[in-house]
Amino acid sequence: MHPLRSAALCSLVLLVAACGGTTTPATASEPITVVASTNVYGDIARQVGGDRVDVTSIISDPGQDPHSYEASTRNQLTLSKAKVVIENGGGYDDFVDTMLKAGGNTSARVINAVTVSGKTAPAGGELNEHIWYDLPSVAKIADQISTALATADPANAATFTANADAFKNKLKPLEDRTAALAAEVGGTAVAITEPVPLYLLDAAGLENLTPEEFSEAIEEGDDVSPAVLAETTALFTGKKVEALVYNEQTSGPQTEQLKKAATDNDVAVVPVTETLPEGKDYVGWMTSTIDALQAALVP
Ligand SMILES: [Zn+2]
Repeated sequence: MHPLRSAALCSLVLLVAACGGTTTPATASEPITVVASTNVYGDIARQVGGDRVDVTSIISDPGQDPHSYEASTRNQLTLSKAKVVIENGGGYDDFVDTMLKAGGNTSARVINAVTVSGKTAPAGGELNEHIWYDLPSVAKIADQISTALATADPANAATFTANADAFKNKLKPLEDRTAALAAEVGGTAVAITEPVPLYLLDAAGLENLTPEEFSEAIEEGDDVSPAVLAETTALFTGKKVEALVYNEQTSGPQTEQLKKAATDNDVAVVPVTETLPEGKDYVGWMTSTIDALQAALVP
């Protein structure tokens, strides 16, 4: 193009948007399309991206068990348009990779929480894939989201970094409170119905006495044998634990039975969930969970 005509065109465009650089003015103001497998990661993406992101969370219904989620063609369409994708990994939300591939989206930046966390299965055990209950890993995920968004929208990189830092600053007091719990009631025995809260319980120094056969069966949506159920129930009738940390999103007749045993034996029940409850953000949710643990365990 003739330089003069180019300059003239440029000054015309200036009326609408800044001219120059390699970004197209028409798309520079479009928010970045982000898709998260659950509303937990969706909320973190929103904290980091602010008004520069358009976030869709595939699983956000508190009445739904994410472990048994069946993806739909609508999810595939949503994922096919994503610029940034946040998945948990570790077998939790395999449908994300499947649908990205099926929809032909090979350009999205995919953040895998398990990979970011660096967590692996313990010797002879299974990986606990509920990474979002591990506060240090969540801080790392916020940084990864910031990096991915900056790649999609370099002009706002500093904003994303500042937002991620602000989010991490809110995690710090939660980590401090968890450490304080460990100092105060560390070593206290508790039971769970399903592994979702285990990273947080570990950080609080609590000892999980639940037979693994019980919590893993509940996670898989299976029933346990009468012997395993009896062994788990004995934790309450025998007053072996101080609290039952109860996953409300993976409940069933056997977990209900356990909750009744806890209540009947004056053992505190601390409710937890897999995804964000209605009307709470990540930090507010974790704050309530730590509040509930503290209320149950600190005399
Ligand atoms: Zn779970």
